[in-house]
Amino acid sequence: MSHEGIRISSQEERSRETPSERPLPRIAITPDKVRVLITEGKGLEIDWADGHRSTWGFAWLRNACPCATCNDERNQQGRKIGQPKAKPADLLPMYTPPAKPASAHAVGRYALQFNWLDGHTAGIYSWDFLRRNCQCAECKFAAGETTGTPN
Ligand SMILES: [Zn+2]
Ligand SMILES: [Zn+2]
Repeated sequence: MSHEGIRISSQEERSRETPSERPLPRIAITPDKVRVLITEGKGLEIDWADGHRSTWGFAWLRNACPCATCNDERNQQGRKIGQPKAKPADLLPMYTPPAKPASAHAVGRYALQFNWLDGHTAGIYSWDFLRRNCQCAECKFAAGETTGTPN
């Protein structure tokens, strides 16, 4: 008998049960349709197999880059996933072009990778990561309710 489907990772062994560590049902992290609206400059839209629809703006996605470098940077600055960097208050506001990818492509069957116009390409956005960070009112409310929002 094979146990290949069962993986016990160190992540799952952590006793602290937060919603973000609870495994999601496969149907919730299986995209039915994926649209990357580069020409429109809008963002990413995913229709999930469970009927849920998620959308993310490119700015959010860039600030949510899940690569190690961006994760470290966010941790150091105390930013949440998707939260923009604080702008220096003592400088004249400079025009920063809105984050946009030059292209995006699938990574295997589990993730999406963006080639951002600023040259950054290290982030692999897994379906799991994206679904857990769904920005719809329903999911944000559910997340806020269980983890609490700092305020
Ligand atoms: Zn990154
Ligand atoms: Zn949602």
